[in-house]
Amino acid sequence: MAKGRHQVRGTTDVLALQMDALFKAAPASVLSIFGGLIALAAYWAPQTQSGLLVWFTIVCVPALAHIASAVLRHKGIPQGWGPVAWSHLVKAIYLTAGTAWGVGGAWMLTIGDDHQTLVICCLAMGAVTCTFPAIVYGAAYNLFQVPIFTLFAITLASGDIEYGQLLALASVLLCIALAIIARGMGSQLTLALRLSLENKQLAEELADHGAALERANRELIVETLTDPLTGLANRRQLMNFMRASAGRSSLLIVDIDHFKSYNDSFGHVDGDLCLVLVADALQTSIRPGRDLAARFGGEEFAIILGDLSQEQAVEVAELVRGNVQSLLTLHARKIRRMVTVSIGFAHRDDDRQKPNATLMSEADAALYEAKNSGRNRVCIGSDPVTVFGEESSRNATARG
Ligand code: GH3
Ligand code: MG
Ligand code: MG
Repeated sequence: MAKGRHQVRGTTDVLALQMDALFKAAPASVLSIFGGLIALAAYWAPQTQSGLLVWFTIVCVPALAHIASAVLRHKGIPQGWGPVAWSHLVKAIYLTAGTAWGVGGAWMLTIGDDHQTLVICCLAMGAVTCTFPAIVYGAAYNLFQVPIFTLFAITLASGDIEYGQLLALASVLLCIALAIIARGMGSQLTLALRLSLENKQLAEELADHGAALERANRELIVETLTDPLTGLANRRQLMNFMRASAGRSSLLIVDIDHFKSYNDSFGHVDGDLCLVLVADALQTSIRPGRDLAARFGGEEFAIILGDLSQEQAVEVAELVRGNVQSLLTLHARKIRRMVTVSIGFAHRDDDRQKPNATLMSEADAALYEAKNSGRNRVCIGSDPVTVFGEESSRNATARG
């Protein structure tokens, strides 16, 4: 069904392209006026001048109408005119022009001498030749050339013009030949237009598919880097972020205190809601873009703070702890009891001084310290080798 609709649209679109081609050739209609002037000059005489002026005026009408309608079409006037309406107008213009040249030329054949006959025959041939590009829409071209050749053939055959019969036969044969050529080449041109249209449609579809694929890819990347419950970065994104961040940084491992008991008391659904609110508290405590909060797994989170001094970073850790503690006040309907977190903190001033793995194990050990020393606090871990040169040394500071 969709294919059928596509085809109908395609046919109308091809007609629109044919009309575009025809109206682009509209300026060539000036040649019709020019040809009319030559005929006027060749046949001008006291007894013919009024007839010639009437004929010339009639010839100018379709020529000027073609040019004027091309300008209007370019401006989108009249509004709502589709390719079918324009094709009717084009056929009317070409038929009028063909008939004007056919009737006028035939009349001139009857009144002229041999030289004038030669002029009008050449002009008619020139008109048909100049209009040849109109074979892109064969119906219009034939409406122009058939009246000219037919009326010329009838006049030549019935008059007493030298070689009249022969010229009449040539006119008929030329008319038929041009109709055949117009049909053959016109259908090839139409095919080319149709193919270019289909190409364009295919390119558009391909671009749409490409964009959809890119969108899906982006969504997939976001999914693989995001924790589905809290919307925070997941462990993978945290690792990527740590690998990419160079220089001064601090790592906070944040673990909810006694969360198992929270779950056991209020159920898994409330437990999930609590995780979401804790995640929000973490996210609001940091600077978006420069820091990263992630869910490490279960009820454990991590925060990377970029380019802060140890004192500034510890202040942020304290802020995180305080914000989680305040959740009960802020969300009394959602949090069933006060929730606290223990935070293991580790800091480095220069990434050459301390690899990520060391930072991680320091923060881990500091968290262990925080849990063991009473929970709801921030403990600071330090690298025992680089800073103190002493194995397993730890500077654990209890806060809160
Ligand atoms: P501690 O203060 O020592 O950290 O005690 P805890 O109870 O928080 O730690 P524990 O490791 O004993 O328990 C963690 C609990 O977190 C166990 C599990 O039920 C809960 N949990 C882990 N992931 C999820 C989750 O996605 N949703 C919910 N609702 N609970 C989770
Ligand atoms: Mg816990
Ligand atoms: Mg835990």
